[in-house]
Amino acid sequence: MTEKLYDKNAYIFEFEARVLDCTETEHGFETVLDRTAFFPEEGGQDCDSGTIGDVRVKHVSLRGGQIVHLTDGSVSGQVHCMIDGSSRLDRMQQHTGEHIVCGIVHRLYGYENVGFHLGSDDTTFDFDGPLTKAQLDEVETLANSAVQQNLPVRGFYPSAGELETLDYRSKKEIDGDIRIVEIEGVDRCACCAPHVARTGEIGLIKFTDSMAYKGGIRIHMLCGMRALRDYAVKQKNLELIAAELSCKPTNAAQFFKKFTADTQLLKQNVSELKRQLTLLRCAAVEKTDKNIILFEDNTDTGALRLTVNALDGKYGKICAVLSGNDGDGYSFAAAGADSCDMRELAKAMREKLSARCGGSEKMIQGSIHAERSEIESFFAKL
Ligand SMILES: [Zn+2]
Repeated sequence: MTEKLYDKNAYIFEFEARVLDCTETEHGFETVLDRTAFFPEEGGQDCDSGTIGDVRVKHVSLRGGQIVHLTDGSVSGQVHCMIDGSSRLDRMQQHTGEHIVCGIVHRLYGYENVGFHLGSDDTTFDFDGPLTKAQLDEVETLANSAVQQNLPVRGFYPSAGELETLDYRSKKEIDGDIRIVEIEGVDRCACCAPHVARTGEIGLIKFTDSMAYKGGIRIHMLCGMRALRDYAVKQKNLELIAAELSCKPTNAAQFFKKFTADTQLLKQNVSELKRQLTLLRCAAVEKTDKNIILFEDNTDTGALRLTVNALDGKYGKICAVLSGNDGDGYSFAAAGADSCDMRELAKAMREKLSARCGGSEKMIQGSIHAERSEIESFFAKL
């Protein structure tokens, strides 16, 4: 069984060890040491990275009592090992932050933590009951208060008798000795991972998102430098938005609300002006006993129908209004005089112009994927 150095001291990032086995596999070399500070992938947490001798550790897993390091080269004898300390510290911050939040939620609402993932960018955890936004805010405030108190984080193996008297959270049934991690007054949980020694090392605890999940809630959380980097990105975004709106970043939401209301009003005004312009242009069209075929620029289907209706009585048999281009295709609306059945025209357009269209006896609409010259030629023959 490999001696787990991280069990006793989470801050060992360099150590000497003896290689017990190093076997080549299709994925790399599976290396077993007599002692290791590399934490394996376990309980939703990524494994440590680093070096053993002069080879890289690609992955670390737990197999029975053995910790297997997957390395990109062969090693033997006594080796000097180094863990990527900044990644490990980062995970210790996130992980200990999770303990604090779970302990508070358990104490206030009695919920259990039923899911946990500590990835390279984000930490998520799930509770088996819902929390409102106000409750989340309260939990976040209490969690940061526990950080500010700089409480000690203690990992220990209680005796069987001691364990019976201890009230602690546990995510699963555990075989063998149970390691308890205690943050006084905040949380007591069975856990085998490395944690920071005092809560002050965690830095800021920030919830970045939450969603209803399996009848409970999933929370996204960032701690320490991850939270600071997230703050910087969001601040930069807010500053850019505020600069566009010519306001202070703290007023950006209020200004943006007014901006969207103004934009909506402008859209309504533009729409009404376009409608009036269409009606004026249609009123100026001379009455003819021929068909009217019009190609309009950037006109939506509503405006196409409006134009066709406004030209009612001004054409012989058929009026068709189209908008689009040869590359993207054309959308259209078409109406006919009383003697025409437009459903017959729709059928002919589907056959000759590969149109996708439909409608009533009086009016049809849809799209055409054909070139303008083909469309003009089709209507010229009607
Ligand atoms: Zn833990």
